[in-house]
Amino acid sequence: MTQAISARQLLEVAYDEAQLGLAEGGIPIGAALFAADGTLLGRGHNRRVQSGDPSIHAETDAFRAAGRRRDYGSTIMVTTLSPCWYCSGLVRQFGIGAVIVGESQTFHGGHDWLAEHGVAVTVLEDDRCVEMMTKFITENPALWNEDIGVADEIEAR
Ligand SMILES: [Zn+2]
Repeated sequence: MTQAISARQLLEVAYDEAQLGLAEGGIPIGAALFAADGTLLGRGHNRRVQSGDPSIHAETDAFRAAGRRRDYGSTIMVTTLSPCWYCSGLVRQFGIGAVIVGESQTFHGGHDWLAEHGVAVTVLEDDRCVEMMTKFITENPALWNEDIGVADEIEAR
């Protein structure tokens, strides 16, 4: 990443996406994929509720919006929340070189695993991201449990 662009500046785009998702009645998780120089390649947010599609996570939405690329090694995935296993798998599958995480307090996903496998991981523990998810989880516990795939919650349906 260039010195001119800070991780927090990149997080702004993902945070805006999360707020968009929240305004649509969805789960407030946003993401964006950037080139190494800070050029925005794609942005998106979780659309489980809006699209009725549990496979549209913020990271996959941003990734798909970026279109086809030859090489992801120099790209940066920015997400408001620690990436789940599905999205961590996406990062490994395509060799995305860096991941910036807004927060990992409300959900501890696969970012340690990514770091262990050579991905440059930055966890910001941004207060606004923590606040946004804490409020959402408190107000929508069933929806949250569905999203993170708590097995017995799903099976009880
Ligand atoms: Zn995910």
